[in-house]
Amino acid sequence: MNGDPNNTQLKTLLSDTLEGHRMTVDEATSLLKLNDRRIFDVCDAADELRERKVGDTVTYVRNQNVHVTNICKNLCRFCAFGRPDSSPQAYLRSEEQIREGIRLAKERNVTEICLLSGVNPDFDARRYAQIIGWVHDEFPGVDIHTMSPDEIRHCADKSGISTKEVIQMMIDAGLGTLQGTGAEILVDEVRDVICPVKVKTAEWSRIIREAHSLGLKSTSTIMYGSVESERDRAEHLNVLRGIQDETHGFTELVPLPYLHTNTELYEKGLAPAGATGRNDLLFCAVSRLFLDNIDNIQVSWGKLGKKFSQMLLLSGANDLGGTMFTDEVTQDAGGNEADYLSPAEMERLTVDIGRKLRQRTTDYRLL
Ligand code: SF4
Repeated sequence: MNGDPNNTQLKTLLSDTLEGHRMTVDEATSLLKLNDRRIFDVCDAADELRERKVGDTVTYVRNQNVHVTNICKNLCRFCAFGRPDSSPQAYLRSEEQIREGIRLAKERNVTEICLLSGVNPDFDARRYAQIIGWVHDEFPGVDIHTMSPDEIRHCADKSGISTKEVIQMMIDAGLGTLQGTGAEILVDEVRDVICPVKVKTAEWSRIIREAHSLGLKSTSTIMYGSVESERDRAEHLNVLRGIQDETHGFTELVPLPYLHTNTELYEKGLAPAGATGRNDLLFCAVSRLFLDNIDNIQVSWGKLGKKFSQMLLLSGANDLGGTMFTDEVTQDAGGNEADYLSPAEMERLTVDIGRKLRQRTTDYRLL
């Protein structure tokens, strides 16, 4: 299907997809372009598919972000977090500060620690392994969730070893799961505009496959709503679906809307003022319908806000992500709800739409 589907074509596509038809990139593109009340038909189908696949449980992980540094060599044009080391706002947390963050997380009884970092030009594989080791020392047993394919590539170059050796070194140091971040839009023409220094699509995919082949699970992500087209979004989903067919290593998709505040793309007039509510709803719903091999679609409540997150739970999503406690990456880009979402508040949002909340591990085992 190309172009705007008529009502009959839309109905047929949605019912076929519910019966197991594997959606094509053309079909997903046409759905992502809808801009009238038919978006609710797509959301409705996605919600039904969610119910059939994963039932009525909404999951969350009790986690805490620990920010290591915002010094970053990439300076992606959509990002308000990364800074050159000459910037007055640049920071690099000390070993004691990081250990303190981990001790706090332990007191809060989290099951996952998310180490967040820019791609610091001085960090090599040994440094990353050392930081992972500090977490492991302070809090054995917690899932250490960190590192993107781009950081792995950087460590490999800096340390003169292969990406596979870097991944194995991190596993040996205690890495639990990999962050599928840095994906942004897996279409090189878009990457050349929004994150020209980051690894290209083929390299991102290769490193993710390599990590999965070594037994690591990872998230998958997308950052939508900047300069890319609807087709680019659909192509991105297709790359993820292809990898998942081979490795089954993705635990979920985390759709991340572009936040424009303090970003070069917006300040130079190259991108709009962030993703719209229509984009958010449709992207969530189309992801559910397109990704027949990824069970979990997460809502990024820090970027979407709590109320709108609830609407995404009615449009194909089934996971509320983590408690986080703090998210400087989102706060720097103007996200004003990116702090802590208590399980009690998650429960209120969940019960309000007739669903039930359950705590999970990073790899989606219910606790
Ligand atoms: S998105 Fe990540 S790699 Fe890019 S500038 Fe921001 S922190 Fe650095």
